[in-house]
Amino acid sequence: MTSTRHLGLDLGGTQLKWAVVDFTDAAWGRIATDRVPTRVDAGAEGIIDQLGETASAAAAGWGPIASVGVGIPGRYDAAGGRVIMTPNIPVRWEGTHLVARLEQLVGVPVHLLNDARAFTLAELRLGAGRGAETLVGMTLGTGVGGGIAIRGTLYLGRDGAAGEIGHQTIDPDGPLCNCGNRGCVEAFARADVIAATCGTATVEEAVRAAAAGDARAVDGLAQVGRYLGIGIANIVTVLTPDRVVVGGGVAAAGELLFAQVRAELDRRVRMTGTATVELVRAELGIWAGAIGAAIHGAEAAAKAAGPA
Ligand SMILES: [Zn+2]
Repeated sequence: MTSTRHLGLDLGGTQLKWAVVDFTDAAWGRIATDRVPTRVDAGAEGIIDQLGETASAAAAGWGPIASVGVGIPGRYDAAGGRVIMTPNIPVRWEGTHLVARLEQLVGVPVHLLNDARAFTLAELRLGAGRGAETLVGMTLGTGVGGGIAIRGTLYLGRDGAAGEIGHQTIDPDGPLCNCGNRGCVEAFARADVIAATCGTATVEEAVRAAAAGDARAVDGLAQVGRYLGIGIANIVTVLTPDRVVVGGGVAAAGELLFAQVRAELDRRVRMTGTATVELVRAELGIWAGAIGAAIHGAEAAAKAAGPA
């Protein structure tokens, strides 16, 4: 029996979450999770120091750690080990080699992954995506993140950006999206838009109000579900996934949201069947990003080391 432990760091705009997972006889297990407030004002170097300190503390309690994965809320350069931009963490990353510096601090291989791809990988290995062959992950929060796994493996594309299903255009003249395009899924289904559509201050309030029968919230969630459903229908037509996992606060609305998504799938997907597409809620909650980052760090380190 071989067993190794791996650390995932999920760098968020307000919290830095971490997870230690173990890999024993080809099976993943969750060992420990925790979080600290992100030092967003510390600049790029300060944030890297915090990643190093957090990794050292986690390793001291739950190690030894064989690899580290870092979930990035934005774009990164995998080959160069650098962050390109993080929309919700206003930090200048230019000239900062995150991977090289963090490897110096922790002494084990470090790999980067977008946080929504980390969410998808975690759900694939340990959550609601277990056993799926082709999986689509969608996480609804400040933005709308996405990820794709094909034949049981996360698909990253040329530069790690494959799976940005929240940024497909579903209304050519729709509202401006934070990415600069118009009419993306995200422009209709990110947290602040959902709350505004439902007439509430937050998504959590929207879910509660809809569950209590508030007509505006019920209609608002149905409208959000419609746009989400159009986006998911496009992906189902292109990829014919066997499962779609939806996470983030609004997923707690359950059928108030999913019924409309399913209606759009039935209405729009004509070239393949939808009866076998499972639409499920994510299982790993707020820890999915950290767990997925840990698993990616382990898988990428194993790949870099070559066949065993
Ligand atoms: Zn967009």
